[in-house]
Amino acid sequence: MSTTLPVSGAGFVPYAVEVGRGLLAGLGERVAPFARGRVVVISDETVAALHGPAVLTSLESAGLRARILTVPPGESSKSFAELERVIDRLLAYELDRKDIIIALGGGVVGDLAGLAAALYMRGIDFVQVPTTLLAQVDSSVGGKTAIDTPRGKNLVGAFHQPRLVVADIDVLATLPARQLRSGWAEVLKHGLICDAAFYDWLASAGAVGAGGDPAALERAVVRSVEIKSAIVGEDEREAGKRALLNLGHTFGHALEAELGFDETVLTHGEAVALGCAMAFRYSAALGLCSTATTERVVDGLAAAGLPTRLEAVGRAGAETMVRRMAGDKKAEGGRLTLILARGIGEAFVERDVDPARLTEFLRTEGAR
Ligand code: NAD
Repeated sequence: MSTTLPVSGAGFVPYAVEVGRGLLAGLGERVAPFARGRVVVISDETVAALHGPAVLTSLESAGLRARILTVPPGESSKSFAELERVIDRLLAYELDRKDIIIALGGGVVGDLAGLAAALYMRGIDFVQVPTTLLAQVDSSVGGKTAIDTPRGKNLVGAFHQPRLVVADIDVLATLPARQLRSGWAEVLKHGLICDAAFYDWLASAGAVGAGGDPAALERAVVRSVEIKSAIVGEDEREAGKRALLNLGHTFGHALEAELGFDETVLTHGEAVALGCAMAFRYSAALGLCSTATTERVVDGLAAAGLPTRLEAVGRAGAETMVRRMAGDKKAEGGRLTLILARGIGEAFVERDVDPARLTEFLRTEGAR
């Protein structure tokens, strides 16, 4: 049994996100309608070792000619150097515009392979096969692709929508526990933005879902993809509503930067969790929502083993954090933009945040 969810919007060819168990075995049949030539699977070394053979077998048994191209695991692969190496390999394979790329991996592989697909021969088709929870609920849907530069994360990229997304819940069984919990932060974020009933279910299912229960994970992925695809369908280029998906991210990015992007200290998902807690506490400090609401948020995050307090992860500077938040690429014309909330499921975009008030709030949070 699987669920097929449509993604459509004014500016792109509609596509489907299929969510279910045991989908990799049938990947070849799913990809075949889109593959008019050869298939190159781009993956990282870890994921390729775990799931590459099943993927290649499935593609070959559907009569597709496939090969695998790997990059080192980790954020450092989202670089100009790795992008150049990948594109050089595709040229060496003499791939043409009838051929197709499959991104098999987490958000790093999806972002890098997606950007390579956007650029190669001015754009070729690609399919997302996300293998982390974060990638299944977030990065594989919506068409954002990017690499990092020494000046910041995701600064060079393109919008390039996949032709198909295949999210197999079973591949999450090999994911390290901390990665699973980090992805759960993005799931909770979707409930916090616009679906209080989903959030309540997640808060109660937090321990089992973030602990790897497949049924809870499947339900969480399906609803998250519904929420994300509805938002992306309305606003592909982030002119308005898509910014809501940044709930917890502006605080989170500033924290990640303060802590030197050291994943051993703070993963991206943990930063988002802490960022969501801070966004709600700041909303409460401004009188926008109640402290009872912030307690429900903290309880839901904590139930999944996610951090909710700054002191749990390290020291950060209030003023430098605010400077980073204002310099975040989502800041418009120097104005500081944050996603705040009037309640659970009631997030909104606040485009005129007062930096002095925010600095003061961060000090109450334990920042220096
Ligand atoms: P990741 O891709 O680095 O994967 C995390 C780790 O898990 C890696 O070491 C990987 O090898 C390993 N792994 C992946 N799948 C596995 C599996 N099934 N079993 C065992 N190990 C597995 O990290 P991520 O958290 O998936 O993605 C983070 C990236 O996503 C960041 O670069 C971020 O900028 C990007 N992102 C993009 C978007 C977007 O809209 N494009 C949205 C959110 C995040």
